[in-house]
This record gives sequence, structure tokens and C-alpha cells, in this order.
Amino acid sequence: MLQIVPAFGRIGEENAFSVLARAGALAAQGRDIVNLGIGQPDMPTPPHIVEAGIRALRDGHHGYTPAVGIPGLREAVARDILRRHRVEVSPDSVLVVPGGKVTMFMAILMFGEPGAEILYPDPGFPIYRSMIEFTGATPVPVPIREGNGFAFSAAETLALITPRTRLLILNSPANPTGGVTPKAEIDALVAGLAAHPDVAVLSDEIYGTMTYDGEAHTSLLAYPEIRDRLIYLDGASKTYAMTGWRLGWSVWPQPLYDAARKLAVNSHSCVNAATQYAGIAALDGPQDCVAEMMAAFDRRRAIVVSGLNALPGVSCRTPKGAFYAFPNVSGTGWRAKALASALLEEAGVATIGGPDFGVHGEGYIRLSYANSMDNIRRALARMRGFLEERK
Ligand code: PLP
Repeated sequence: MLQIVPAFGRIGEENAFSVLARAGALAAQGRDIVNLGIGQPDMPTPPHIVEAGIRALRDGHHGYTPAVGIPGLREAVARDILRRHRVEVSPDSVLVVPGGKVTMFMAILMFGEPGAEILYPDPGFPIYRSMIEFTGATPVPVPIREGNGFAFSAAETLALITPRTRLLILNSPANPTGGVTPKAEIDALVAGLAAHPDVAVLSDEIYGTMTYDGEAHTSLLAYPEIRDRLIYLDGASKTYAMTGWRLGWSVWPQPLYDAARKLAVNSHSCVNAATQYAGIAALDGPQDCVAEMMAAFDRRRAIVVSGLNALPGVSCRTPKGAFYAFPNVSGTGWRAKALASALLEEAGVATIGGPDFGVHGEGYIRLSYANSMDNIRRALARMRGFLEERK
């Protein structure tokens, strides 16, 4: 009998992909499904970025690139960080990876082992916990509370640190809640981390360009006191509508950089060469495409939030970032996962149950409003019909 190592018995997955598959199967049976489940922009990649990718292929960029990424892209990432966060980083500390996920994969592999504790947001992106479990480390959920605007609480986070804590994962703007952690809270968190110099920090800033109402995004890169233990995660997937291109980048402290580079050499060799050229066009090109997408998300956000608040038993805070709404559905009388499943099977609306993002997600469902206004309106009308009928 084949014997796979036990770690694979502990690895989880992202339910958004299962929901996507189920929604696809229902659609293939002729059902009309509105998919608010998957977290990806519905817009195409901006044309100048697509053109740069095509040009790279025509220009013969068909081979391996350096495992850490082509110099032009690493320099463009450093410029992007300077422009957006006003922080200087050396292109030599930038690692180009096939998607934001790969940075978390590497960081968690670097710090996770039996006996180690890793702190991660709950509700949060499900891959954090899955990868922590895979390494045999102990996952320690940091509760992300609606009452706190779905922001990290510095005090609550710091109180969970023990002598066994090796890594703290932060995410703002956040999936699945849309929460943005205010600067004051990050200031307090970083100040508190001074007492825990052995704790590394992974800051997942994949939604860093996506805030609303003038809300500022505070990058952890802006804190020199933790730069020697900070891993910064970003990428093109969300900001430039490039989820399928597989392009992410990260900034590592020098001692960890070489370990990450070796992991890259051992796993994927390099990111697709044409994708990397497209990445330069994305970062160095005009940014109005980003502003236009955000304006569209903002309009949809308003419709989603008011539509959800008009549903019986549902209340929804206005998310400050990303493109997710995380309504509280505890007043409907449904368990969150059962509601998400019934909405898909009976009302033809794909959402994700909050418990798929952690134990503190019970009572909530996640809707991605990265979808057309028309689909959003149809989804809300179907949800209303469903909930009124089942009251
Ligand atoms: N981090 C968070 C919080 C996410 O929500 C996602 C994608 O949904 C990722 C990282 C991964 O992004 P990528 O598609 O670039 O791997």
C-alpha cells in the first residue's frame, strides 16, 4: 500500500475553490448561478499589462529567469514600495514568486515545526491555518472581532504570544472581513513586539491598494524596528486583476532571503518569464486602472451593504477594504455554513460560510462583490426571496 506522509492528513484547503467547482457543476446542469464566492476581480487584466506579456513572449522570453525574479521586476517592486509606503527597500531583498500564496507557504515552512506556535487571524485566509497544521506547528487563532471593526487588537494579539511563538501572521486589509487595522493599533502592536524579539512577522498586504473612504493602509514595512524580522507579502493578483497569471512578490530580511531563494529553486525555479514582464508594466505603468477598479468596487460595496442590511436577520458593517462583505447572519436562525449551502443549492447564489475562515467566523457569511452590479442585484434579490420564504 502507498504510504503518504502524515502531514498530508493535516493539510486543509480553500473552500472557495470547492464552492467554485460546485457552482460550475450546477451551472453545467443548466442552473443560473450568481457566484459571489470566489475572491477575484471580475475585470480583465488592463490591456497594457496583457500587451507587455504578449510582447515578452514575442521577444523570446521563453526560458528560465533567475529564481529570485528578473532584476527589472525586483526594481519595479522596490519603486512601488517607495511610492506607496514611502519606504526604501533594496531590490536584493525582493523575491518574485508565483502568487501571494507562495510567500505564506515559504514563511510558514520556515517557522513551523512541532512545538512551535504560529499566530494567525481568525476569521482569516484559510491557507494560513492549513499550512501551519501541515508543518506540525500549533495554530493559535487571533480573534478578529466585529465589535472591533474586524481589525486586529494589539492587546489581544500580544497577550497570545508565548515563549514558543515563532511567527505572527497579520493581514490588513483583510480577507474575509474587509477589515482594515488602524495605524494606532499597528503602532501599539509593533511597540509590544519589542518585548518579543524572537517572533517573526508575516504581513499579508495583498489588498494593500484596496481601501475606501480615504482609509489609509499602513504597511508593516514602515516600522524600521521590526524590519529585521518582517516578511512582506504582496502581489499582482488583486490590484491588477491578475489572479491567473500567478505573480506575487515579497520582501525578506537578509538572513531569511537565501532560505526563501533556495525554496524557490527547489519548488518552481522561477515565475513564468512573460508574467514577470507583465508585472513590470503593471507596477511601472499608469495606475488609473487601479483607481478605476476601486471606483467600481466602491459603487458595488454601497449596493451590497445596503442590500444586505435590508435582509431579514442580517446586519452588515461597511467594509473598509478589499472586496468582501462579511454580514452577520446570526439573526436568520441559520448556522452560517448551512445558510451558504442552502443559498447555493436553492437560491443559486454562491457565498462562503464564515466557519470556512475559522471558528470565529460562525454567524457570518462572506460575499465577494467583485462581480457585476447586475449580478450583485440579482443575488441580493434571490437572498431576500429565500430568507423571506424561510423566515
Ligand atoms: N492573501 C490573502 C489574504 C488572500 O485573500 C489571497 C487570495 O485570495 C492571497 C493571499 C493569495 O493570492 P494569490 O492568488 O496571489 O496567491
